[in-house]
Amino acid sequence: MEKIDILSLTRDELTNEICAMGEKAFRAKQIYDWLHVKKVTDFTQMSNLSVQFREKLSRKFCIKSLKIKKRLVSRIDNTVKYLYGLSDGEAVETVLMEYKHGNSLCISTQVGCKMGCRFCASTIAGWVRNLEPSELLLQIYESERNSGRHVDSVVLMGIGEPLDNFDNVVKFLQILNSDGEGMSLRHLSLSTCGVVDKIYRLAELKLGVTLSISLHAATDERRSAIMPINNRFNLVKLMKACDDYFAATGRRISFEYSLIEGVNDTDGSADELIKLLDKRNCHVNLIPVNEITEREFRKSRYVERFQKRLLAAGINATVRRTLGADINAACGQLRRDAKSEN
Ligand code: SAH
Repeated sequence: MEKIDILSLTRDELTNEICAMGEKAFRAKQIYDWLHVKKVTDFTQMSNLSVQFREKLSRKFCIKSLKIKKRLVSRIDNTVKYLYGLSDGEAVETVLMEYKHGNSLCISTQVGCKMGCRFCASTIAGWVRNLEPSELLLQIYESERNSGRHVDSVVLMGIGEPLDNFDNVVKFLQILNSDGEGMSLRHLSLSTCGVVDKIYRLAELKLGVTLSISLHAATDERRSAIMPINNRFNLVKLMKACDDYFAATGRRISFEYSLIEGVNDTDGSADELIKLLDKRNCHVNLIPVNEITEREFRKSRYVERFQKRLLAAGINATVRRTLGADINAACGQLRRDAKSEN
């Protein structure tokens, strides 16, 4: 019988499992503490449990782990990029970045991606599978262990579409935040290309997660040309979902806008964006597009000009600092490079 992945169980699920073994509920609390607070990697380390019980646990459950397949450290800004090997031989990327306000970790949510955004490296080799809650948590635990740095905030912005792995991502959030002991979800941002039905489901859960929308274009024609998801959920539906999310959670929405030469970087495109975001309490993050070899898209030369136009219209817009430029830190590139080396 396959062992249960214990790190993927929520507190309630673990309690049910432990009680079903004829043990008292407080044992589950002890185990949960070992797993998610002390972050041990083996049952033998759970020193307040009897040897017999620990053996029983290790027959029923497994504690998963990640293997560091590659680790690149930027000489420019200390950014660390990990390629983590999973138990089935697949690999995903995690990036640890230093900011003035603390360390931020960008984690992957799927092996590959189905969304097909034209400019994105994660989608090129297609989608393989969803990551389990344990594999999402372990990206944090392992990066902290390896780097010796504390992760202050997490962004779900690595490989994959988090809302396309909804149930596992929600479980991950619940475990991370359980009983208010873990990380406050105010320090967690979830980035989505715009899976509208799931934005509503996330709002209903009232987890307080910050939502980041990958917008990249402000008319349906322009957006559909680079992001297939726009054919399923157009901008009217997406913006309505954003307004409803803000109304339900009080969390201000961030919009990501990667500037691509000749595609979405003209004054006209800026004006379209100003019109779309009119009177909304939001923030726009401008990113010079990361050039990838398989695609013809080039970095815009008009990033500053675009930003100035938004600011002049009263829209809060910043340009994202490029981190880890010397280690190819853009999402999906390391996994793809590792695959082509095989
Ligand atoms: N699927 C989610 C999260 C992963 S992508 C989403 O779409 O939001 C993380 C962010 O990087 C998204 O805003 C995505 O649009 C952007 N991105 C992907 N490839 C990029 C590239 N080549 N240059 C700049 N940004 C890119």
